[in-house]
Amino acid sequence: CGIVGYVGSKNTVPLLVEGLHRLEYRGYDSAGVAVAGDGGLEVHKTAGRVADLRRVIPGGLSGTTGIAHTRWATHGEPSDRNAHPHLDATGRIAIVHNGVLENSDALRARLTGDGVELASETDSEVLAHLIARSGKATLADKVRDALSQVEGTYGVIALDAANPGELVAVRRGSPIVLGLGEKEMLIASDTAALVRFTEKVIYLEDDELATVTADGYETSAMNDPDSRSTTRPPTALE
Ligand code: GLU
Repeated sequence: CGIVGYVGSKNTVPLLVEGLHRLEYRGYDSAGVAVAGDGGLEVHKTAGRVADLRRVIPGGLSGTTGIAHTRWATHGEPSDRNAHPHLDATGRIAIVHNGVLENSDALRARLTGDGVELASETDSEVLAHLIARSGKATLADKVRDALSQVEGTYGVIALDAANPGELVAVRRGSPIVLGLGEKEMLIASDTAALVRFTEKVIYLEDDELATVTADGYETSAMNDPDSRSTTRPPTALE
């Protein structure tokens, strides 16, 4: 339902929670964050409200890259473990997903057949496993690889704990907007989350992928094997 991501030099935790709070008006049943900090990737999530999420996040949690989600359940009941973000089996890849993956049952069955233990009943979780199991070199190419196996709609952000200075965002049928800051970037499903952060935005097109770091962003068509740049300057937030 709602997505927020941050990469920069500030502590991302208050920014992510504030961003989720600004997306609450859309409705949701669960909320969560994944933060890349000194201790690797930490995920905290819960059924309920953003206020409940604030209570389950440890006071000292800190990191300069993170992703966050408010969930409106489509596959799997509203519960702590079905809340996003979702991790792969090694805990290295975290994802948040808006939308519906139509072929998730087949993908879950294939992963289970390969010995992967799924931690939730969601359609979304398969994405974390598919990204982690891709043999491609970069996170962007791993995400392309994973999404080439998926049918449905998505706004996604992926985070790799092994390279925490970078986020990859992609969309098909579910909005994603990048917000450009001073040596920091925000990603969101809705410009409401960017209020007071920036007035410079880049709207992703359907089937477009963005690699985002503190220093900037690059976009390209998701299905372009040469990943030719579609990078354009930001426009003013209306
Ligand atoms: N289909 C996903 C789920 O049920 C994402 C729902 C959403 O857009 O919040 O977990």
